[in-house]
Amino acid sequence: SRFTTEVMAGNQERTFIMIKPDGVQRGLVGDIIQRFEKRGYKLVAMKFKQFDEAHLKQHYIDLADKPFYPKLCKFMSSGPVVPMVWEGKDVVKMGRAMLGATNPLQSNPGTIRGDFCIDLGRNICHGSDSVDSANKEIALWFDKTELASWSMCTGDNVYE
Ligand code: GDP
Ligand code: MG
Repeated sequence: SRFTTEVMAGNQERTFIMIKPDGVQRGLVGDIIQRFEKRGYKLVAMKFKQFDEAHLKQHYIDLADKPFYPKLCKFMSSGPVVPMVWEGKDVVKMGRAMLGATNPLQSNPGTIRGDFCIDLGRNICHGSDSVDSANKEIALWFDKTELASWSMCTGDNVYE
């Protein structure tokens, strides 16, 4: 029915989440992935790989005029990261809420940043700030063929 189609479309929002080199080094990959899994979101794509500075400069292009931009891009290309695509209802906004505030000292306990980090330049994870950014970031980090098409068997128990 038309109603079902609308509900399905609403559950198919996608966001780009990435565990930064500091999150990888600190052994937080499993914990961060588990939070999205347990919440009920669906993993659509994931990599474990070191990317070059040019790629990170493109990812953070909107921050190109900030004084910390070169340092940020250099750090982000200093080791392997875990770029991921997660799908589900309101996942862009909820992903940001699960990450916590950009500055970990302002992130609430219970959030990823609020539980695991202290410094702004070592805040262990990235999350898209809008649906528009998410679409751009997903296209930058993944080829269309790398996005898995599958349905979670838990779907009927996550969504009414
Ligand atoms: P995010 O979307 O919450 O990740 O924050 P932004 O898009 O504003 O910034 C991207 C990343 O740059 C942040 O996650 C921080 O790691 C880093 N960053 C942001 N602001 C600053 C700053 O003032 N100083 C430094 N050193 N790093 C910053
Ligand atoms: Mg941002």
